[in-house]
Amino acid sequence: MKDADTMTALVIPDPLNLIGNEWVPAVSGKTMDVVSPIDGQPFAQIADSDAADIDAAVAAARAAYDGGEWSTLTAAERGRLMIRLSELILEHVEDLAQLETRDNGKPINQARADMKVTARYFEYYGGAADKVHGEVIPFLNGYNVEVHREPLGVTGHIIPWNYPAQMFGRSVAPALAMGNATVMKPAEDACLTALRIAQLALEVGFPPGVINIVTGRGNVAGQALADHKGIDFISFTGSPEVGVIIQTAAAKNFIGCTLELGGKSPQIVFDDADLEAALPVLVNAVIQNGGQTCSAGTRVLVQRGIYDDVVAALSERFKGIAASGSGEDAVLGPLISAKQKKRVETYIAEADAPLMARGTVRQDAPEGGYYVAPAVFGPCDPQARIAQEEVFGPVLCIIPFEDEAEAVKIANDTEYGLVAAIWTRDGGRQQRVSKAMHCGQVFINGYGAGGGVELPFGGIRKSGHGREKGFAALHEFSHIKTIINNHG
Ligand code: NAD
Repeated sequence: MKDADTMTALVIPDPLNLIGNEWVPAVSGKTMDVVSPIDGQPFAQIADSDAADIDAAVAAARAAYDGGEWSTLTAAERGRLMIRLSELILEHVEDLAQLETRDNGKPINQARADMKVTARYFEYYGGAADKVHGEVIPFLNGYNVEVHREPLGVTGHIIPWNYPAQMFGRSVAPALAMGNATVMKPAEDACLTALRIAQLALEVGFPPGVINIVTGRGNVAGQALADHKGIDFISFTGSPEVGVIIQTAAAKNFIGCTLELGGKSPQIVFDDADLEAALPVLVNAVIQNGGQTCSAGTRVLVQRGIYDDVVAALSERFKGIAASGSGEDAVLGPLISAKQKKRVETYIAEADAPLMARGTVRQDAPEGGYYVAPAVFGPCDPQARIAQEEVFGPVLCIIPFEDEAEAVKIANDTEYGLVAAIWTRDGGRQQRVSKAMHCGQVFINGYGAGGGVELPFGGIRKSGHGREKGFAALHEFSHIKTIINNHG
């Protein structure tokens, strides 16, 4: 056990990459500034890496996978390392959360929750490592047929800035559980906790080359990883535009990929819903992480009979929300960057629907930070741009509907399909509507972004493809080999 000072000290990683268990600068020697969204000030640096660094990381991962120490560990031994890492993350929740908040801007309480979820990823997948079984298939007489689940090899991971630590766990933990060796390119806008967690992984004794982290720009280091001929799979979370680039690169290398590209997720509120339970959840689904969540529930569909009441209640709540610095009492922190702030403010200014309510930015919010007052629009035409496109900020659209059939039509009528929620007490309707939703996850009388490590998650259409979380992710990071033995 470490002393209290060490456990809560904010340790800012040096501008180095982790390659083959060595901390090394970018081959070019270049670094780039890390800016805190809280005040817009640079406070750290990361390596500004390029193809040469990615080459070295992929080579280290290949060596680990092909005959290195990692390849000799049993599944239980892999799992044990992961569980030890989970425990160490829990010991460091406070310093990791402080670092995440400084780097990403999210309220400190959300950052603490994120660290616990990150630990849970390593615990869950560590526990699962030795529980993925093969099968024996009855075939012809004289044959024994075994189906094995094998790792893919070297897996590439490109993650976004909205949940740097959680995404590390979500993407890398299932790959490790299956015995792959990993190379991760975290987002240039926020990646310091990923580097700190990698430091903790060294402490628990992961062999060299199993976890490699190369920081840098998307169109340089990210592109080099996506294009690399030495990787066997790529897992990507981010924008649909870059998703197309990743899938194209994967196709050229004849490898698979998972894409998690965000959404415009509907929450349908029927007139028999328990509004007392629904209202705080509806608000939180938009405000959490400043609305910078792929599964944010940003389209609220409300049945006509209760429309005025729900709109009034939501407007009241949004008016009471103030963007602020990310301290203990914060609910809505700054957005990640000046670019994202401008993008969200442009959506608000150019919205093609009536503005119903606006929150505020607190007077004491630090100068220079990227604060945006939350906004509610309604009634929105379902086809309005503001009701169709992912804003990635604290912006809610409210859309009225008459009946179940119309609700289903509107809910499904975007290019995305990630998550949906249904608020109703009617059991038959819960079944009908959840089956009718075109998306990867449906909540009934609840909503949850983040967490739910056990629950398969992912989208269809412009939200991407493939599944993360749960055992589904273990299947993504492995392939099936069928061995047919004619033993006579
Ligand atoms: P992005 O897609 O550019 O960045 C995501 C990751 O991809 C980062 O690590 C980035 O460095 C990397 N990347 C960028 N270009 C690349 C390339 N050519 N090759 C390989 N990797 C590359 O996202 P952004 O610009 O940071 O955000 C823009 C919008 O994307 C947001 O407004 C939001 O709508 C969406 N987004 C979605 C998620 C999500 O969780 N699904 C996360 C972040 C952003």
